[in-house]
Amino acid sequence: MLNLSVLLEDGARNQPERDAVVFGDLRLNYTLVDMLANQVANLLVAKGIGRGDRVAIACPNLPYFPFVYFGALKAGAVVVPLNVLLTPREIEYHLRDSGAKALFAFTGTAELPLGERAWKAFTAVEECAVYIDLPPVAGATESAIEGAQTFWAALEGQPGTFDTVRTEADDTAVIIYTSGTTGQPKGAQLSHNNLLFNAVACDGLFGRSPTDHDVFLAVLPLFHIFGQTTMMNLGFYRHGTIVLQARFEGDETLTLMEREGVTIFAGVPTMYWGLLNAKGEHDLDAITSALTTAVSGGSPLPAEVTKQIKEKFGVDILEGYGLSETSPVVSFNNPRKLSRTGSIGVPIWGVEMMLVDEDFAAVEGVGTGEIAVRGHCVMKGYHERPDINEQVIRNGWFRTGDIARRDEDGFYFIIDRSKDMIIRGGYNVYPRELEEVLMTHPGVSLCAVVGVAHETHGEEIKAYVIRADGSQTTEQELIDWSKEELAAYKYPRIVEFLDALPMTATGKILKRELR
Ligand code: AMP
Repeated sequence: MLNLSVLLEDGARNQPERDAVVFGDLRLNYTLVDMLANQVANLLVAKGIGRGDRVAIACPNLPYFPFVYFGALKAGAVVVPLNVLLTPREIEYHLRDSGAKALFAFTGTAELPLGERAWKAFTAVEECAVYIDLPPVAGATESAIEGAQTFWAALEGQPGTFDTVRTEADDTAVIIYTSGTTGQPKGAQLSHNNLLFNAVACDGLFGRSPTDHDVFLAVLPLFHIFGQTTMMNLGFYRHGTIVLQARFEGDETLTLMEREGVTIFAGVPTMYWGLLNAKGEHDLDAITSALTTAVSGGSPLPAEVTKQIKEKFGVDILEGYGLSETSPVVSFNNPRKLSRTGSIGVPIWGVEMMLVDEDFAAVEGVGTGEIAVRGHCVMKGYHERPDINEQVIRNGWFRTGDIARRDEDGFYFIIDRSKDMIIRGGYNVYPRELEEVLMTHPGVSLCAVVGVAHETHGEEIKAYVIRADGSQTTEQELIDWSKEELAAYKYPRIVEFLDALPMTATGKILKRELR
């Protein structure tokens, strides 16, 4: 028997008074978070929900997230976290595809009218019978959605203790929707085992000592697996304090770091870029003396960002690699072992990586190929997609769709996603290589390179660039800069300047939209 909610229960037993969750002025200790999770579990059981039933959550990083998540797990249910930017049609798709019986959704704000969208989707899906409205955190009890039951009213009278429903290690705990390498979102089924192992593995990788009282800054969205495992599940595993930030904003993040003495921060590269570009006044000494670990993943970390973060905050960013399908961490640069700038490191313990060619044959030694992964992190498969599962998982090896190089010491370097590769006049061009070159130009603050349709070359190389503050750099200057560094078939032929780049809710640059 194994249930991931043991992370919270163990914290409540060992550190009952410690702050588990901090959001603005609100501080909830371990006892309270566990009690609220128990009330959620009792509520779900009272509504007829049990082992294996799917419970969706549409909620940004607010205190509700952890206790609804662990409450649903205690009830034996499977959590389906939804991206908060989904449209009603998309939410409906996710509810149907996962077969969700219940939906917890944040009412939202004027900028993020999540409740309206969620309610619209909910009313279209008959099988989903329970809707719980999560009102703004500051004590509201009235539901903003007509017809919906508000969270606090629903919890009323529910006992604060609960005997966790018996689940097995291989039961699905969470379904994470991802487009993966192809089209329509599919639900990656992650087991209790997958998730527990990954959080525990991160503990060792991040170089924590057993006595540290860690303060985690959870600004990566918890509905995405990166934030969920590394900031929430690891945070509870360490009996740490999890400081929630609902949306990334560089100055606000630095203020939280300063105020709460944040020791561990995980972010995607654009967040590090945001920290470097924050304009407010901050006590850098207070931030750097507390911060011991900075982790990056999710997309390529430009070497230039690593260098500047080291200069400003005195920490080496540790880069790792993973996917929704792998709980997520596959490889990491271990601080105690050698790490290599620009590398995604080596496989974490209990996980194997290999490079394969198009026919799934292994590439041995130093070489280039698609990354395949095997071990405790690999998902059970996509929910109800036997045909796709057969293509992507063979003999336990999961094909990632990412192209990498392995060096003589076994370190892996991501070259690019196979689908981001540009084919210009028959030559393969990996945007990442060009992005690294552009980022070293003093006039470039951030960039993204994509392929655009071209009559004779098939695809043409186009760079979208955000200029550095005060820079007047031109298209020609950037083309010349790249020509100096790269073979003639690789430099950009078109450069367009933008004020901002489109990003996912996690902060990854949305190349699909740029294309
Ligand atoms: P997701 O399922 O949203 O977590 O996205 C997984 C994808 O993010 C992987 O397939 C990679 O293409 C990309 N990714 C994750 N970590 C890295 C990294 N360190 N460097 C480059 N790409 C990464």
